[in-house]
Amino acid sequence: MAPWDYPDFDEHEGVHFFRDAASGLSAIIAIHSTHLGPAAGGCRYWGYVKSAEAVTDALRLSRGMSYKNAMAGLPMGGGKAVILADPAVPKSPELLAAFGRSVEALGGRYVTAEDVGISDADMVEVSKQTKHVSGLPVAGGAAGGDPGPFTAHGVYLGVKAAVRRALKREEMAGVHVAIQGVGSVGGGLARLLAKDGAKLTLADVNADRAKALAAELGGEAVPADAILTIEADVISPCALGAILTAESIAALRAPVVAGGANNQLATPDDGWRIHARGITYAPDYVINAGGIINVGLEYLGQGDRAEVEKRIAEIPGRLETIWRESATSSEPASIVADRMAQKLIGR
Ligand code: NAD
Repeated sequence: MAPWDYPDFDEHEGVHFFRDAASGLSAIIAIHSTHLGPAAGGCRYWGYVKSAEAVTDALRLSRGMSYKNAMAGLPMGGGKAVILADPAVPKSPELLAAFGRSVEALGGRYVTAEDVGISDADMVEVSKQTKHVSGLPVAGGAAGGDPGPFTAHGVYLGVKAAVRRALKREEMAGVHVAIQGVGSVGGGLARLLAKDGAKLTLADVNADRAKALAAELGGEAVPADAILTIEADVISPCALGAILTAESIAALRAPVVAGGANNQLATPDDGWRIHARGITYAPDYVINAGGIINVGLEYLGQGDRAEVEKRIAEIPGRLETIWRESATSSEPASIVADRMAQKLIGR
């Protein structure tokens, strides 16, 4: 099937398939838009069951990056890479080098970074083949490095803004936040919230990870399939996408959904469903822009860590603008945010 025959095709500028027999690399790089600048977005390493799922993920994630970068005020377009992880093939330096050559072949139209399953050490391997890479380890005070903690910080500020708006609470002490996925983003968020005295319920498909963090921070761990229906003040999806469906939205028992995962809404209709339930929803690509702000400024060579923090601190204001407009127009926050982003990228 051609990329444009997929339901998630959105006039992407290019969808590129790469194969390297020697290292076992199979990768897809989707470029949604370069209207604002080079298409920036991380590389996901994931064990897709079917390659069509990888194409769909690349299409959806790259469009999300166009919207995210535009809304974050970065002069960058949107793209995304996915590496189809094969249990029989190790994530070797050779495989990462082959991926680096794939990025280089696009001549700077796509700039890569970390995403799920890819570390900053992996990016160092990639950078041996291409300069179109960000998220590399940097000296203290400079912009750049692992985007995870910066994403977590932006999500933390966004969760606080949502709690202020929905619950009229200024402090997070005693506010109950249920976090789905406690990896780089969800784990970082949990630590920040714990410092504020929030009540935490944590879940991860890696149950030991959730249990260990809950023990460390004084929260509770629950099975992964129970987290979305926890009665809490905030549900924070920080694992994978498409978890907000007709069924899961109907079962939510929290007034706020605000988390770092990309593409949380399974379909645009789910934005309407969450709105109809009166739940305050933080559009994912707005609340989770902290990481791309960090690596975007690193790649562009614009500004230092202080500039990154300043721009991340603008995330709550952006969310508040969206929620205000949503209240005025009686449209879901997701639709309002999409419209703002589309205008910025000339669509
Ligand atoms: P990560 O791999 O460090 O952590 C993800 C965690 O989610 C893992 O612990 C994994 O075991 C868990 N998980 C997977 N499926 C789950 C499920 N069904 N239920 C519960 N837990 C599950 O990844 P990350 O960097 O923390 O990214 C998390 C999400 O945030 C992803 O959607 C990613 O695209 C998005 N995101 C990440 C960044 C970043 O800077 N890392 C930036 C923007 C968006």
